[in-house]
Formats: sequence, C-alpha cells, structure tokens
Amino acid sequence: MPTGSADGRALKLSELPDAVVGVLSRLTDAGHQAALVGGSLRDLLRGGPPGDWDIATSAPPEEVASLFPGATWENPFGTVTVRANPGPVSVEVTTFRVEAGYRDQRRPDEVRWGGSLEEDLSRRDFTINAIGWVPHDLGARQGLLVDPYGGAADLRDGVLRAVGDPSERFAEDALRLLRAVRFATRFGLELDAATEQALRRHAAAAAALSGERVRDEILRILGARQAAEPPSRAFQLMEGLGLLAVVLPELQALRGVPQAKARPGDALDHSLHTANALTPADPYLRLFGLLHDVGKATTLGDGHFIGHETEGAQVVETILRRLHVPRVEVARGRHLVRHHMFAYAPAWSDAAVRRFIRRVGASSLADLFALRRADDVASGVEEPQRGGLDELRARVGRELASSPLTAGQLVVRGDDLIRELGLRPGPVVGRLLGELMEAVLDDPAANDREALLALARASLARDPEGVPGGAGTHQARAAPHEPGP
Ligand code: ATP
Ligand code: MG
Repeated sequence: MPTGSADGRALKLSELPDAVVGVLSRLTDAGHQAALVGGSLRDLLRGGPPGDWDIATSAPPEEVASLFPGATWENPFGTVTVRANPGPVSVEVTTFRVEAGYRDQRRPDEVRWGGSLEEDLSRRDFTINAIGWVPHDLGARQGLLVDPYGGAADLRDGVLRAVGDPSERFAEDALRLLRAVRFATRFGLELDAATEQALRRHAAAAAALSGERVRDEILRILGARQAAEPPSRAFQLMEGLGLLAVVLPELQALRGVPQAKARPGDALDHSLHTANALTPADPYLRLFGLLHDVGKATTLGDGHFIGHETEGAQVVETILRRLHVPRVEVARGRHLVRHHMFAYAPAWSDAAVRRFIRRVGASSLADLFALRRADDVASGVEEPQRGGLDELRARVGRELASSPLTAGQLVVRGDDLIRELGLRPGPVVGRLLGELMEAVLDDPAANDREALLALARASLARDPEGVPGGAGTHQARAAPHEPGP
C-alpha cells in the first residue's frame, strides 16, 4: 500500500528475508501502510547485511501488538518488537511518529503518532537514515524508495548530512552529535559542510547527555566490526569537533603529553593506537585500552610517569562510573589499568611467576596479556624487546596447570588449623593460611599436610597473637608481593 510519495524510484530488495516480508505483509493485508526504514534499509542499499530490521507503519501500537501476538510493546515510543517467523529475526515496528519539543536536548517532550511516512522520515537524524521503502508487490520484493532528503545519493557519494536544518537537529537531541561521528567513521563518510559547522557549534551540548547514552554510543563505535575506519578516527574526529573534550576530557588531556616511544606521537595518539589494536568483539576491553594511560596527564615528571597506573585506575573508575558502566566492568577496567605496567624478565623465578598470577588474579590474565600486546603494538615495540610476553604466557600456563595458587588449593584448610592447633576461628587463622600460601608459592612441594601444619605451629610459637596490619586476613597478607627476578 503506497503512501503519498509514489514518485519514488522502483527498487527490488531481493535480500529481504521471508520473516521481514511476513511482517510487512501482515501489516499491509490489514490495511495499514508499512515501510522498511532506518538502518536496515540503509545497510541494504550499501550492500551490507543489516544488523536489525526496522519497519514504520501507520498502524497504532495497540493495533500492531494485536496483529502480532507475543510481541513486546515498549512505551512511550510506540515501538513494538516482533519476533518474526521463520526466526530468529527480530523486527522493530514503530508507528509513524512526529516528535515535538526537545527542551532538555535529550528526549522529545512529546511523541505523537498518526502522521505520514514523510513526517516520520523528517524527524530522523541523517539523510542516510531517513529513507523508506514502501512495498507494492511483496511476493516479488518490489517497492518504491521514498527518499525526500536524497539519502541514497549521499550514501553513494559518501556524505553524512543532517536532515533539514543541521543546527536545529543537533539542538533537539545532542546524541546526534555522537551518532554523526559513529556513522561517519563506520561508513567512511565525509561530513557535509553545514552539518560539520553545526556539530562544532553544538559540541558543548553533549555535556547534557546522560552517561548511559554516551556509553552506548562509545561502545557502538568501539564494537563496530566492519567499520570503514578504525576507532582512532572516530576519536580524532570527536577531538576535531570539540566533542572529545566534553565527553572524555580525561582522554583529551593526553593531547600534548609527550612520550618516548619507538612510534611517534603523544599519549593521546598512543591511546588511540592501543584501542585500534584490540578486538571490536570486546568493546569494553577496547575502552580500557583507550583509557589505560589516562593517569599520564597528571604524573608526568622528568620523562617518567611514576605511579600513572595507580592514578589511572582512579581516573578510569571515575570515568566508568560517570558512564554508568556495569559494576563488573568498572572493576575489570580499574584492575586492568592498575596492573598494566608489569615488567617481565626471563630471569623471573617460577615463584615470581606464581606471585604475578596471584597478584593480578588468574581470571585477569587473558585481558592483561591482550592489553599488553596492544600497548606494545601501539608503542612500536617488536620482539625481542617485547620482554618475552609469549614466554611469560607459556610459563603462566604451566604454573596454572601444575601449582597451587589459591588458598583453596592448599591441602590444609582453616578447619584443619583450628582442630590441629586448638585455635579459635578468627584473624590468626587467616594470618596462618596466608603464610602457608606464601610458602607454597615459594615452593609448590611444600603443599604437604604435615609440612604445612609444622610451619603453622612454628609461626604460632613465634607469635601467638599477631595479625598483619592489625586486622589481617589472608587476602591482606597476599597482596603486597611484587614479583621480581
Ligand atoms: P545501527 O545499525 O547501528 O542500529 P541504526 O541507523 O539502525 O544504526 P538505531 O539507533 O537502531 O540506528 O535507530 C534506527 C533509526 O531510528 C535510525 O536509522 C534513525 O532513522 C532513527 N533514529 C535513531 N536515533 C535517532 C535520533 N537520536 N534522532 C533521530 N533519529 C534517530
Ligand atoms: Mg538499528
């Protein structure tokens, strides 16, 4: 069922999956208008596989929900998510809408539906995202392109252009500032001159965005799998537009911080190269790579950055909290940044390797090695100066497979100490377990019941009450050991 713009160019979408055709035809069979829109159409026009499917329709949300039993309806934006058959295709069906007023530059004050496809396209952000395809023969996958803003031509010519007056569009919703950077770098588009000017003019408005929205955009930039340009380009573009200083001022502060690395550039260049060298499959790890040296902005002193990993861990925690990153990822990022400066030398004893594992935690090793590799690539460090990372990885693997590394792997438990030594549960038991752990890290052969009990007895005889740090637990005992040759 065509809309008013029957003047569009005819276009056959042979790649349209049956599941999406099914959703479109159920809507049109019920007498509604329906069009493929947004990112899915854009991606099809580019010749790439769409990430998700968006359909706009004249049917009000209740009507859509009743046509597709089992669909979920997300208020207040009138988007109904339909699980289409044959699955597992998820299609978002959104009622044609007209937005009014954006007092807070974040969310429309009001969403009205009942408009036309043209009105619906007019409230979209960029011309490449404001194209519709209205089917006229679904069996043959034939339809008409409704493209009032020349999005198909912009896509072909490689131009990112705001729909309508760019300044108004960015003033309405500051998220579009970041979306512009994301689309431009994902598809390798040039910014249209007026759009670019408006981006600069409105950059400061990004400060009003919620942490969650900024986080999601940054993760989408870092997680783009087949992006035309690496993430460094996105952040350079943000810098040039004045956006980086607003959303990640801690990263912007690395501009001009000098570094003595084989690969030229300042600490910001190095950070961007580090992010590039990490996989988009783990966008958070890429974010941590991007931020791993933020401590350098404040710790520069005679060419060294003493304690930048400790300082950086604090700064990273602040940034991640501001972005409302889930707690486990905050902890992961802080921990990685805190420990990224380990300096392996082949002279390390096996005990030093075991202490290293204990200090950084077995579950962090893969992250830490991936970050170091990226850091090395970004620094222009090549074998053999790389410090034998492969060797350390191999030694770590051997120790993990063969040596007791945690209190849980000791053959003597707290209960044993209490029973055998006549102790009461409390901090002294923790202290003794910590000492036994240390002994076993030094020499795995010491993990023997009689030997460990003897050690515990001797320690108790020397100091019956003492607890490290006054209120020690074995965690407190285990922490301060730095590995070294
Ligand atoms: P992706 O492939 O990354 O999902 P997308 O273009 O589909 O890209 P979505 O965020 O899924 O992006 O949004 C779907 C469509 O909704 C967009 O193509 C655009 O037309 C419209 N849209 C989304 N967010 C905005 C916004 N903040 N302002 C205006 N239009 C928007
Ligand atoms: Mg999408």
